[in-house]
Amino acid sequence: MIKVTVWNEFAHEKTDERVKNIYPNGIHKAIADFLQDDEVTVRTATLDDPECGLTDDVLNDTDVLIWWGHMRHGDVPDEVVERCKQAVLKGMGVIFLHSAHHSKLFKSLMGTTCNLCWREEGDKERVWVCDPSHPIAKGLGKYFEIEHEEMYSEPFGIPEPEKLLFIGWYEGGEAFRSGCIWHRGNGKIFYFQPGHETYRTYYNPSVQLVIKNAVRWAKSDYRVDTLDCPHVCKPGEEEK
Ligand code: ZN
Repeated sequence: MIKVTVWNEFAHEKTDERVKNIYPNGIHKAIADFLQDDEVTVRTATLDDPECGLTDDVLNDTDVLIWWGHMRHGDVPDEVVERCKQAVLKGMGVIFLHSAHHSKLFKSLMGTTCNLCWREEGDKERVWVCDPSHPIAKGLGKYFEIEHEEMYSEPFGIPEPEKLLFIGWYEGGEAFRSGCIWHRGNGKIFYFQPGHETYRTYYNPSVQLVIKNAVRWAKSDYRVDTLDCPHVCKPGEEEK
């Protein structure tokens, strides 16, 4: 089984009727509902849980963490962010969705501003598949469309992706690197742009397929217990 933890700040859904109508139980529950299957077991965690629901016990029992946040990035305690970062370096996979581009955890793992340009006018988005051979693109055609999405455009202040999987094109004419992967330590990282809270993006079958595929890709077979530096080795001595 792949153990997934879906983390959501769970703020818009409590205060904005439009968002509440689309995701009555929260974006995290909507994602958990389509992810859960015979191969994947899902737990959820939110900002208001003790320690944001991201204790050492939870992270040690998580193969892949999914992160959705927007207006309360700053309320995530630094020690929780550091704990998650250490888990990624040890080998936990992490998927950042939409406005998680400005989460403390993403910016810390990237080391750059992660800034972008945006417009919330319900543009149609066409998401082009750059590498159809990649496991995250499995089952997709040349592109898929999202009827309404917040426009995100370049320049996106990220380090050069190790692989660019998707390019988003909007009817306003802009383009954006919508699907990017990196490794940090032993952990795999996927950023996926769709998912503005006032649109029905997480009910889109292609968006769901990408996230399902990404969970399977991001689970690492290699994970260490400690990030301590190994001791000095003498010639021929086994590393302890
Ligand atoms: Zn948004």
